[in-house]
Amino acid sequence: MRAEIVIVGGGAAGLHVALEAAEAGTGVLLVSRKPLSESSSFWAQGGLAAALAADDSPDRHAADTLAAGRGLCRTSAVEVLTGSAPDAIERLQVRGVRFDAEPDGELALGLEGGHSARRIVHAGGSETGRVITSRLAELVAADERIEVLEGASATALWSDGSRCAGVVTDRGAIVARATVLSTGGGAALWARTTNPWGAIGAGSVLAHAGGAELADLELCQFHPTALALPGSEHDGALITEAVRGEGARLLDASGERFTDELAPRDQVTAAILDRIEADRTAQVWLDLRGLDPERFPNVFEVSRRAGLAPDSAPVPIAPAAHYLIGGVACDLDGRTTLRGLFAVGECACTGLHGANRLASNSLTECFVFGSRAARAAVDEPDRGDPPELPAWRFVPPTAATRAAVWRGAGPRRERDRLEALRDDPYPLARLIARSALARRESRGAHLRTDFPLPDPALDGVHVCVDPADELRLDRWI
Ligand SMILES: Cc1cc2nc3c(=O)[nH]c(=O)nc-3n(C[C@H](O)[C@H](O)[C@H](O)COP(=O)(O)OP(=O)(O)OC[C@H]3O[C@@H](n4cnc5c(N)ncnc54)[C@H](O)[C@@H]3O)c2cc1C
Repeated sequence: MRAEIVIVGGGAAGLHVALEAAEAGTGVLLVSRKPLSESSSFWAQGGLAAALAADDSPDRHAADTLAAGRGLCRTSAVEVLTGSAPDAIERLQVRGVRFDAEPDGELALGLEGGHSARRIVHAGGSETGRVITSRLAELVAADERIEVLEGASATALWSDGSRCAGVVTDRGAIVARATVLSTGGGAALWARTTNPWGAIGAGSVLAHAGGAELADLELCQFHPTALALPGSEHDGALITEAVRGEGARLLDASGERFTDELAPRDQVTAAILDRIEADRTAQVWLDLRGLDPERFPNVFEVSRRAGLAPDSAPVPIAPAAHYLIGGVACDLDGRTTLRGLFAVGECACTGLHGANRLASNSLTECFVFGSRAARAAVDEPDRGDPPELPAWRFVPPTAATRAAVWRGAGPRRERDRLEALRDDPYPLARLIARSALARRESRGAHLRTDFPLPDPALDGVHVCVDPADELRLDRWI
């Protein structure tokens, strides 16, 4: 098969890049392993961050992002995101996405932890991801310049290590002048996760094997409030941060509040872990009483399906792996270190999120950086005949790997457990362990019991992994 641009992954980032590239007149082939309802994008609840309120500004959004990122954000990426976020929202509206509005017609803006202003744009109450991805998928299906290869998995990049000439899938190889990875995150590598099970960091593994650099792999954000119901299929189900913006309270075993519910995620997660340890329990409680179930339909629905009664009693919660901050290292136009290869969305690592992602910046990232990557991919020159097909193929992780990643690289990391993870059969698990061992400090989402404090010498320093598995500490501008 042949395409001008091939995109791997049909979540928010992949759908958006496809539409942007097609609108620029380019033919696109979108490879999607799973149905739409299995992307993280579909599941997103809270919304998208953008400085739209009269008392808000991109500078203020940037200041909040930098503060949450704990000295590790790439400032240029933060400026791009916060400066372009309002336009990205407008573009989605032009595409027909209907966000929730106030009675006067202005967009309804929610508040989430770490934000100093109301700036979370949402849809369908807490069904933002479903509303956006459904609309974008409709547009993709209707666009003649976009062909969708559904039910196909990318199993390797068509790369000789110096350039990427397309992708190998289980339905055949595809030659393209630009290849865009939008395969989502890797938080489902951790056994306790809020993510769909396909979020196994495939993009990072494919890119690494193909010859691209990865970065920040030690940084996985743990969401403070996931349902704690061990053994139940609902264990790990996300309770959006936005409920705390509307007054939900965190309570300990004796029913007392113990932390600021609207602090950034790393802080709330650490407070919950401390309280669980002090109380010798496995969970704390989130009090949703008094909230409007219609504002958060899926939060109340999932709680009830799990046998809980959120309107009359607090629900049990504990942290779960939520967002892999690290991924395929790329510049602000999605270009990776491998010619012809781009990365967008959660599989990409621009340095935007630093050591702790500010809530609701990631959906915005898919659209802001997706537009830039689409423009760069459209301009990518044809570099002639592809190289030989590589022999390497992707092998998914086992349940044992997922358990080992949670044990070794969970919310609190012990040196010997990280060292044990270095021998895991799944390449990304090994690289997460090595990167976490290389960051000899605690910062944001990365908490090491043997180095409990941040090291100021590591401000702005990223742990990068080259294709030969060598680690390097680097500063990005
Ligand atoms: C429960 C939940 C709630 C969230 N809420 C919010 C929120 O309110 N606001 C916010 O900003 N962020 C939120 N996030 C994070 C946000 O949803 C994600 O970061 C974002 O949607 C990622 O989009 P994406 O397009 O990069 O990846 P995804 O939406 O995960 O899409 C990746 C796609 O790639 C496909 N794929 C993967 N590997 C392959 C392969 N080898 N071959 C072919 N296809 C492949 C997958 O099947 C999937 O369709 C939430 C995440 C979760 C899990």
